[in-house]
Amino acid sequence: MDLTALRGIGDKKSKDFKRLGISSVSDLYNYYPREYEDRSKLKNIVDIADNNKHFFIWRISSRLYQKNFGKMTISYVYVYEEKSEFGKIRLIWFNDRFTPRRLVRGREYKFYTSVSKKNAFYEAGNPLFCDIDDDEIGSIVSIYPLTRGISNKQIRQFMGQALAYFDKREEILSDNILEEFSLNKRCENLREIHFPTSIANLTEAKSQIKLVDLLKDLCFLDFLKKMTKFSQDTHLSYKIDNILSELSFTLTRSQRKVLEEILDDCNSPYTANRLLVGDVGSGKTIVAIVVMIIFALNGYQSAMMVPTELLAIQQFEKNIELFDKFNVKAALLTGSSKDKEEIKKAIKNGEIDILIGTHALIVEDVEFYNLKFVVNDEQHRFGVSQRQMLALKGEVVNYLTMTATPIPRTLSLKISEIIDLSIINELPKGRKPIETKLLGSDKIEILYENIERTIKENRQIYVVTNNIDSDDKNSLENLYGIYKKRFPQFKISILHGKMKAKDKEDILGDFNDGKIDILLATTVIEVGIDVANANTMIIYNANNFGLSTLHQLRGRVGRGEYESYCYLISDNPSPSNKLNILVESNDGFEIAKKDYEKRGGGKILSYLQHGKNLSTVDFLNMSKDEIEKCFKIYERLKDGNYQGIDLTYVEEYFRENKRIILN
Ligand code: ADP
Ligand code: MG
Repeated sequence: MDLTALRGIGDKKSKDFKRLGISSVSDLYNYYPREYEDRSKLKNIVDIADNNKHFFIWRISSRLYQKNFGKMTISYVYVYEEKSEFGKIRLIWFNDRFTPRRLVRGREYKFYTSVSKKNAFYEAGNPLFCDIDDDEIGSIVSIYPLTRGISNKQIRQFMGQALAYFDKREEILSDNILEEFSLNKRCENLREIHFPTSIANLTEAKSQIKLVDLLKDLCFLDFLKKMTKFSQDTHLSYKIDNILSELSFTLTRSQRKVLEEILDDCNSPYTANRLLVGDVGSGKTIVAIVVMIIFALNGYQSAMMVPTELLAIQQFEKNIELFDKFNVKAALLTGSSKDKEEIKKAIKNGEIDILIGTHALIVEDVEFYNLKFVVNDEQHRFGVSQRQMLALKGEVVNYLTMTATPIPRTLSLKISEIIDLSIINELPKGRKPIETKLLGSDKIEILYENIERTIKENRQIYVVTNNIDSDDKNSLENLYGIYKKRFPQFKISILHGKMKAKDKEDILGDFNDGKIDILLATTVIEVGIDVANANTMIIYNANNFGLSTLHQLRGRVGRGEYESYCYLISDNPSPSNKLNILVESNDGFEIAKKDYEKRGGGKILSYLQHGKNLSTVDFLNMSKDEIEKCFKIYERLKDGNYQGIDLTYVEEYFRENKRIILN
């Protein structure tokens, strides 16, 4: 049902909602709150001894006073609480003439505010208030991520309406199953999530929603697995040590184990369909490269798809020597490759063994000779259909997906019973933790001194910001101007997605060769870029990035033997800034977990894209008990041949897609 079916939502409002990813009534009631504020406990001033906000009911007992002091306006009224020390409480608004005018003398209102002691009265500054029968105050209030044009109050009003239109098809579990496992109906859980009746009920509802959503994922995985099992007669013969001895480093134990898992899969009577998880810098790429070489040595083609042109170029360049050593022929194909036709011909007639590229691999009508292995790097950036199209190019291919998106351990142990999952859980030896500092925008001078010293020590520096050209003082263009002026002695270059491929390639090449001291870039360098001599990452407007992106960006340094540093620059370097999570931890999983805690939700299983209603359930914070209960229900359903669960959503998915690639 379209959102405009709700009272009060017309074309304009519905456009605003689209920005939140909400276009149907169902999207709306599946839009979970970011957090809650417990405004449910009514207080009197005598009860409170802190500066926190509390819920009060007061009657307005004076007229409204409004005064100007220079540029400032203050407005105030008085209310009374007889039992309190002074009785008198002044409600005061600064620079807001209009809000207090809504208060009517003699009438009672609900307030949500902190109160401080003045000389002969109490004072409440800019108090939040509402009518006595309004539930904005006096309840546990859900707080949503907002966008321009939509207030929290509005979302809550529309939410009330939306829930009345709950689509019964979204209740996938039968009454029997609900009863057997003591679960509430989904629409009841949703109501509790949006309009909590108590903290205990809310906690239970959240837990049940998570559980059922994970359950959906598990059933989906089980189906995928069945659908993607193709028999094959690929036979790989190899002497792994002969290959590994050509590498310039020894694989970690984890890498070695994962490599063997993948090769065993590929050599089995059924095609591989495996997910490889490993934190930034854990060395996933080389594992995939070795597998590709083994396929090539056995006369099969393989392809690696990466999300950006820059990364494709880099993976290609970095490994070309290794390919040469084995006499394996590799090629690079991106949207702007000049010799596309030639490359495509060589792929078709089998002259090329290994193809590395961007989604040009699927956009261009590339035909393979005998594609048997497909790798997808940083998979979260591709849609499901993009991924499967690449695999469709080969008749029967072995498929490997790589991601740095962490999966909680308790969950991964269980999930690996359903899907093939490999995990690299250590970093190469000798890596030093990256020292991370949160720096106020006013402390740039310290930074400049560090930059100077770093470059004098022959290291290189990345500087990243979030926009190219705007009136933002920290735009790429502006920073380029500032840096050129401040460091005329250094070689500084700029890199962003809108540049021509050739220019990007040249700049990256120069940075690789140490010809550039400071590389100013956008997040084009977020994934994969790998220059061991660069030991400093400086990120401007750091608060404009998600923590996981920042962790990825930071992962660009700390790749060599040098002490490495990351500076996060923010206008607000206070201890409460969420960026401190990065200062305190270098562990991608830890960071993701805390990030989700702060944001109150995350799509940790985002690789399990199952249709339109992607939930944002906080899988990372599922307890062991919850996970176990979920698997218990899953096993019960599976044993019962999926009686008791409506799997239409899964079937729809398979109808839309001829063939599914698991990841
Ligand atoms: P990610 O898992 O983030 O994709 P990469 O594959 O880019 O990590 O590896 C990061 C860097 O570590 C690369 O320069 C790679 O060559 C190097 N590397 C990978 N494995 C090892 C290892 N076992 N010992 C030393 N360096 C390694
Ligand atoms: Mg990588």
